[in-house]
Amino acid sequence: MAKVIAEMLVESVTMELPDVKTVHLKWPEGYDPGEFKTGQFITVYWPHKTKYKRAYSLSSSGLDRGFYEVTVKRDGKMGTSIVDWVEAGDKLFVIPPTGRFLPVFDPPGRHLICVAGGSGVTPFRGFVREATARGLDTKITVLYTVKTTNDIIFANEFRELEAKNPNFKFIVTCTRLAPEDPWTGRRGRITPDWVKSFVTDPASTVFYACGTNEMVAAVEHLVIHDLGLPKEQMKLEKWG
Ligand SMILES: Cc1cc2nc3c(=O)[nH]c(=O)nc-3n(C[C@H](O)[C@H](O)[C@H](O)COP(=O)(O)OP(=O)(O)OC[C@H]3O[C@@H](n4cnc5c(N)ncnc54)[C@H](O)[C@@H]3O)c2cc1C
Repeated sequence: MAKVIAEMLVESVTMELPDVKTVHLKWPEGYDPGEFKTGQFITVYWPHKTKYKRAYSLSSSGLDRGFYEVTVKRDGKMGTSIVDWVEAGDKLFVIPPTGRFLPVFDPPGRHLICVAGGSGVTPFRGFVREATARGLDTKITVLYTVKTTNDIIFANEFRELEAKNPNFKFIVTCTRLAPEDPWTGRRGRITPDWVKSFVTDPASTVFYACGTNEMVAAVEHLVIHDLGLPKEQMKLEKWG
């Protein structure tokens, strides 16, 4: 089946944070994207600006049929136009999912260490939703860096998934909290030693990093130089 570009109805939107919006795009009648997977991205454009296209990771999972969800931060031209303007009833063009930022669920027993900064956490919602829905034994640890506790995207959903799935851990580190803030979790940037402290069996660990080029490059350095692991045990998604 050829991959078709489709105009999709925005069925609903959800403000996750004051500057982050999830857009729920309904597949049109008869739409068949063929096979697609959790962790892939779609490409989106406005009907009145067809040359300006931008990629957005699916924050829904490959198990979800009939719709796509993407979660967008107000950043740059497209990010700002989506967060400020898209509302239920609008239409957006969608190029079907593609990409290799895929969770390794097979063979079983892997530990996925997923490092995210800011909006880079969006594909990991799909990873954890799928692993939880399928009752997989894959361990998933999301290490998430944000400025303050007000910047945690999907905080409630990740906590609920953590309660349902004993193999999932959601660990946040805040970089810019006031010293008097009551947050009891970790503070400070992601460091190689901190990431390493979650590795129990290097051979069965797969590292993921999603977000700014700088953060992704730091994880790449950690995996290759500090841990001496092969590139095959690492998947990176650079957003710029
Ligand atoms: C595979 C992939 C998946 C992605 N998934 C997501 C996702 O799930 N959620 C998400 O929010 N984003 C995601 N992105 C990023 C997204 O595609 C857009 O790049 C983002 O929304 C910004 O929109 P833009 O490119 O139109 O911004 P542009 O206007 O082209 O700007 C790009 C960047 O430059 C900065 N910038 C713009 N103008 C200036 C200026 N004059 N001076 C200095 N800096 C400037 C902006 O702040 C922005 O960070 C993804 C990117 C890729 C490649």
